[in-house]
Amino acid sequence: IFISTRSSGLTAYCSHLLSFFGCYGFPSKLGKKIMLALGDKDQCDMSFILRNGQSVNVHQVVLLARCPSLLPPEDLSDKGKTAESNGSSGRQATDKCQTKKEVVLSAQVDEQALLKLLDYIYSGHLQAEGDLVRKLKMLAKRCNVHPLLQLLCNKRPMWASSMISFDLSHALGPAGHDLSDIVLEAKSTEDTRWTCSYCSFSMPHVHAHRVILSASCEYLRALFQSGMQESISTWNIVRYNEVPPEAVLYVFL
Ligand SMILES: [Zn+2]
Repeated sequence: IFISTRSSGLTAYCSHLLSFFGCYGFPSKLGKKIMLALGDKDQCDMSFILRNGQSVNVHQVVLLARCPSLLPPEDLSDKGKTAESNGSSGRQATDKCQTKKEVVLSAQVDEQALLKLLDYIYSGHLQAEGDLVRKLKMLAKRCNVHPLLQLLCNKRPMWASSMISFDLSHALGPAGHDLSDIVLEAKSTEDTRWTCSYCSFSMPHVHAHRVILSASCEYLRALFQSGMQESISTWNIVRYNEVPPEAVLYVFL
């Protein structure tokens, strides 16, 4: 019932009540799938280096959608180069060599609190108690994760609050284009006048992200992981027959 309810008000109040029992956030089907990607070395594109030298693998697109404060400051010079390359061909948009970033965290960042925060970012909920809750409050405040901070402070949700939702659709917008590593293209022979704010490719398409698609769709996960790489063009494009890419993503998310 908890996972299947679509009432944001009911969800907010259920989460509020559960916060008194050390459960913060709201489980969701998508969150359960995305959580499986946490720590995945193959598809991660960033690592947090902790004060003890250990590293935690993360995915920039998930942070972008759920907690952008954890992303390093944008490199304006790199962005300029990317925008320049997009002008010549949309297919070049995904032909980027994605190097793994390493972010060394301040020694003041509590490791246990960070790992719990990542649980929340990837799954939509976490369990904590005692002193860890106090550390999480500090971290959630510094990272501007207000829905979690509200739960950690046991604040009663406002009327018609939409504070609890596991939504990654922000990653499909302009903000997520630079992190896109796959294009979903609708296979069409008709003359389409598709306009994209990121590239000049004229076929209907969406700039997507492998980690989210892999977690959401068994077929694509098999396609990305198995020896079926020949099904994906050298330009990292997956073609779908007669299915608008937005519709495909809507089903996945
Ligand atoms: Zn495009």
